[in-house]
Amino acid sequence: MPVRPSEPTGRPSPSNVVSASKIAPMSDAGEVRDEKLDAEAEARRRVALAQIRQYPDPALRMKAHDIESFDVDLTRLVEQLEHLLGDANGLGLAATQLGVLRRVFVLRPDPDEESKVLVNPRLVEGSDERITDDEGCLSLQGVVIPVERHERVTIEAQDPEGNDVRLELEGLPARVAQHELDHLDGILILDRTTPDARREALAVLRPQPVVVR
Ligand code: ZN
Repeated sequence: MPVRPSEPTGRPSPSNVVSASKIAPMSDAGEVRDEKLDAEAEARRRVALAQIRQYPDPALRMKAHDIESFDVDLTRLVEQLEHLLGDANGLGLAATQLGVLRRVFVLRPDPDEESKVLVNPRLVEGSDERITDDEGCLSLQGVVIPVERHERVTIEAQDPEGNDVRLELEGLPARVAQHELDHLDGILILDRTTPDARREALAVLRPQPVVVR
């Protein structure tokens, strides 16, 4: 039986080396789902990602405006978000990631459930308990970094018809919702991680504005 070589202890970690965990496949993280796709689904994912703004696009740093009219423009935007989220095989997508500065995002943390659309969402309560876990982002391809989030959140918002909704979320759905809320304020996971993880992420992002894999 082959023996796995033991990990060297006290391993030096030069700052210019990106640790394998940053690019290796992970479990579902942030708004990125880890799943092997067939060739057709992979092609759809790439087309969708090409329509999602990628770091350092300035739209990702802008604050979105409240939505006041629940009109056909909003319906179209929601349809586009849901369509791209599905094709990108993501867990959540915010309008700012399409360069649209309006306060709406879609969540789909469970692929077997319908997506949830939240318009003008507000975090009204966050648990004292906070959990640090790895997150990825559809706008930061190839980056997975630790982010601390509330374990449970209460969010008040409106649905696409303008009805009030209140959601109590826990675990992964709570994490994805906090990630998307941040997008509406121009905040990225780079701003919420450790200095070391941020440095490594920027090293991944810097050399290739377009990642083809
Ligand atoms: Zn994101």
